[in-house]
Amino acid sequence: MGQVRTWTVLELLRWTTEHFRSRGIEGARLDAECLLAHALETERLQLYLEFDKPVAPVERARFRELVKRRADERVPVALLTGRREFWSLPLRVTSDVLVPRPETETLVEVALRLLPDPESPAHILDVGTGCGAIALALAKERPKARITATDISGAALAVAKENAAELGFENRIRFLPGDGFEPVRGECFDLIASNPPYLSGREAPELPPELVHEPREALFAGGEGTELLRRIADGARDFLEVGGVLAVEVAPQQAPEMTEWLASAGFARPGCHCDLAGRVRVVSAERGGGGGAVRADAERGSAPAEKGQDNGEPS
Ligand code: SAM
Ligand code: GLN
Repeated sequence: MGQVRTWTVLELLRWTTEHFRSRGIEGARLDAECLLAHALETERLQLYLEFDKPVAPVERARFRELVKRRADERVPVALLTGRREFWSLPLRVTSDVLVPRPETETLVEVALRLLPDPESPAHILDVGTGCGAIALALAKERPKARITATDISGAALAVAKENAAELGFENRIRFLPGDGFEPVRGECFDLIASNPPYLSGREAPELPPELVHEPREALFAGGEGTELLRRIADGARDFLEVGGVLAVEVAPQQAPEMTEWLASAGFARPGCHCDLAGRVRVVSAERGGGGGAVRADAERGSAPAEKGQDNGEPS
């Protein structure tokens, strides 16, 4: 009676890609490849060398479970594999953190342009670090910088710490729990970078179903999603050196408002920067002289000199 059918790597990929497509999953083929590679405990590109290899029943069962969770529950691939690459860094992700988005690499690029000296000993703050993506990318690119990363979620910070340890950056980054600037009260930085939650609860019904698998506090903020952006705009000055710079990720439609708030808070040199999709995704500004917090420790390094700006038109 009924011999069990054997499936090859290629056959499984084709079937699964079709299945994902029929469920309206974008990037169906890539998702199928990532999940099959995970089930086979191999690299995705290795699959291409093994298209004709039969997949053993135990591996197929593992794969089937992943496919089911992806298609039926819409769990993001990164949360099924527990890994996500960001800025070429392999990061661990769990349901306690936001899965780092490609748009956020734009924020890293802007931050690096604002701190152009690769040897800069700058003091950097990442507010709402999640899995540590921004702090870790900046630690990699600015090896002399001293970095502080905060998050209101202790569970997220635990993941960030694990990533820092895995990448050998545990002595470069200080992780502090707390709300907004609270954990760094009395300190001043040369650069503040942040990708805060900026979606509004009202948007929730239109958002991709995958988002229910990420922490609410990582995605949503009050007041049209701008509550934390507003707090950052109003408060950041007190935590920046004179000449210090700020780069914040926003939703494209929030950029004009954020720019205004920064101007009202006394920031100079406003800049809007587009992501790869051509949408304004990052707002930057510089703390001019006068007012604000007085620096406590005079021995700190000088503020960065040249600041690159590409003032794009907010769309
Ligand atoms: N920086 C990471 C990234 O870009 O992938 C995570 C960004 S996620 C959009 C926002 C992060 O901010 C979450 O980890 C969340 O826990 C944290 N967060 C939310 N509200 C916060 C607050 N009031 N103070 C500090 N962190 C907050
Ligand atoms: N860019 C994310 C999304 O739309 C939102 C991240 C955030 O709120 N900072 O999925």
